Amino acid sequence: VLSSFTYAKKDNPINEIDTTASSIEIKVDSLLTLMTLEEKIGQMNQYNGFWNVTGPVPKDGDAAKKYEDLRKGYVGSMLNVTGVENVRAVQKIAVEESRLGIPLIIGFDVIHGFKTISPIPLAESASWDLEAIERSAQVAAEEAAASGINWTFAPMIDISRDARWGRVMEGAGEDPYLGSKIAIARVKGFQGDDLSKVNTIAACAKHFAGYGFSESGKDYNTVDVGTSTLYNIIFPPFIAAKDAGVATFMNSFNELNGIPATGNKYLQRDILKSKWDFKGFMVSDWGSISEMINHKYAKDGKHAAELAINAGSDMDMESNLYVKELAGLVREGKVKEELIDDAVKRILRVKFQLGLFDDPYKYCNESREKEIIGKQEFHDAVLDVAKKSIVLLKNENNLLPLKKNGQKIALIGALAGDKTSPLGSWRIAADDGTAVSVLEGLKSYSGNSIIYEKGADVTIGKTEFISELTINETDTSGFAKAIAVAKSADVVVMVLGEHGLQSGEGRSRVNLDLPGVQQELLEAVYKVNKNIVLVLNNGRPLAINWADEHIPAIVEAWHLGTQSGHAIAQVLYGDYNPSGKLPMTFPKHVGQMPLYYNYKATGRPTIPAPGLVFWAHYQDEVNEPLYPFGHGLSYTTFKYSNLKVDSSNMKEIVVSFDLKNTGKVKGKEVAQLYVQDLYASVTRPVKELKGFELLELHPNESKTIKFLLTDKELGFYDNTGQFIVEPGEFKVFIGGSSKTILEQQFELK
Ligand code: BGC
Repeated sequence: VLSSFTYAKKDNPINEIDTTASSIEIKVDSLLTLMTLEEKIGQMNQYNGFWNVTGPVPKDGDAAKKYEDLRKGYVGSMLNVTGVENVRAVQKIAVEESRLGIPLIIGFDVIHGFKTISPIPLAESASWDLEAIERSAQVAAEEAAASGINWTFAPMIDISRDARWGRVMEGAGEDPYLGSKIAIARVKGFQGDDLSKVNTIAACAKHFAGYGFSESGKDYNTVDVGTSTLYNIIFPPFIAAKDAGVATFMNSFNELNGIPATGNKYLQRDILKSKWDFKGFMVSDWGSISEMINHKYAKDGKHAAELAINAGSDMDMESNLYVKELAGLVREGKVKEELIDDAVKRILRVKFQLGLFDDPYKYCNESREKEIIGKQEFHDAVLDVAKKSIVLLKNENNLLPLKKNGQKIALIGALAGDKTSPLGSWRIAADDGTAVSVLEGLKSYSGNSIIYEKGADVTIGKTEFISELTINETDTSGFAKAIAVAKSADVVVMVLGEHGLQSGEGRSRVNLDLPGVQQELLEAVYKVNKNIVLVLNNGRPLAINWADEHIPAIVEAWHLGTQSGHAIAQVLYGDYNPSGKLPMTFPKHVGQMPLYYNYKATGRPTIPAPGLVFWAHYQDEVNEPLYPFGHGLSYTTFKYSNLKVDSSNMKEIVVSFDLKNTGKVKGKEVAQLYVQDLYASVTRPVKELKGFELLELHPNESKTIKFLLTDKELGFYDNTGQFIVEPGEFKVFIGGSSKTILEQQFELK
């Protein structure tokens, strides 16, 4: 049968169709035969939540039109409707009032948690712990599903090399290999192994493609990249997500090499749907169909709709143009009905996979909602990933870990007391003030030996629009009190950086410094007490040169979500030995942007050579980053030795080495393998991550680690988009960061 749900309206044709075959394809095809052109187009239309369902039904204006569309079956999906009561109300209209009763798919930005918030994705990526990342996505899916949602617009898997771009907080950083592994973990976490289960939701790989390469890091800006970068850097996480079975894709706001992604047939039809054989559907980004007019690519709304569907955008998020224009375009012969059918089938397929035809209300269960959201085990899971996301950037004189007794601690910084900022950007469903602050976290360890002073507000810069934040550009009136507590303390913990809402969409920056007067505060406190532990809160790499030169201990704590303060306290007091590694390069200066470890060699050296005046460098800053990709310290030390490359079997080259814990405490290390193709028909990066292993070692314990290199790791995409493997000289590098320790050359025959 087409649906195991019995529709209330007895004359619903859906109830009559009985296909004995159980396959989803047959069900989709038979349902399609029942649909009018307008109903088909309706499936391709997604509206934002347009009225408060507990209030009266909208009577006029835009909301009334949308309400009518919903009743007519001209809406296939809604976003930003959450909570069982609300979801049930809209679903009921779609299912019980429209002619065919096709259920809605309910989308939401479940980016890093729903109510119980995980670290921002960039932070989680610093854990390099794929299991913890998968678990975090699973927690998010369970809570969202319990709230009526069945589709998340995540994971965001845009590779980015520019810390100025505010959306780096949403991704996995700069590296396509790590980014691909994390993309798979997140897709698996959201979708589980069976989409029809009530605690899993459909995932969405976004933004296809190139959004992370927005020129000068300015959000929505032009993207112009060549084939090599597109195939070797931008595409791999998308291929990985597709192979992991991601149900949907989202296109992006940017143009790519002159064609907006939303109207880009090469990306959506030729690559994704044909070459990669993707069977799910492509949703536009918010209003990105109509934005093609602003891009100067579409003449008007009608033209934009035509370009978008012909290019392969299956669902229109909030441009309202498909529902308005597509039927006319089909009748005029400008859009083939086959394309509409193909889009609708893709959308229906996902709805069947989710089991919405078996029970459209399966995600709408009030008692599940009550029981599941905020469960203790979810808090445990987000705490687990939060502490694993912390990166120890610097630790001189063993200032860390702090001593649990007998140390008087001054805690300084507005962010230290903040219970909202740690939730970060993109946590729409979570309530303000629900994060554990650093102050609370530290107090749970040391109670009264902590004295707190704010010192100064976190400010957001003159051009920022975020109304939620205190704008206090130059106020240094709190300095005196902060200096006084610092003077009398053994150790000063300063929590500085960006507010959680200073990164995210539309939140690009031209400076990568500590905003407002925080740098001044840091320097003022340093004058009276040099024993400073700087805890950074931020959604992007920061250029903190001065701090690196002066401050003995620096901890990268990002925006860690609901359990932030507990995670930070566990690391500062040594109950968790930090194991995170940077997923993005930290620059010394914003002018180095874009800065990334897997760069290409040039014709000129990057270090000075005798007699060479014109070498590849800046006059006023070094080439090196402040902290390289993959960097992260521990309270113990590790030694790498004994690198061997066995290339007797060309199909599977074996790289092995020993890793030893040479310090005094148990610790985790992410051992990293990098490869360089020494010369090739298309130039290759100086180094590329091709393997990593996260392992825990006791003091003095050592382990031999093995990596296998196959064509997959040694090949690359040429400038026609073909994956090729070229024989020749290669190098492998091993170490605890991209600044590797051991290297060896071998020949691939
Ligand atoms: C963002 C998407 C997001 C969508 C829906 C857009 O502005 O670019 O990533 O999923 O809004 O909220």
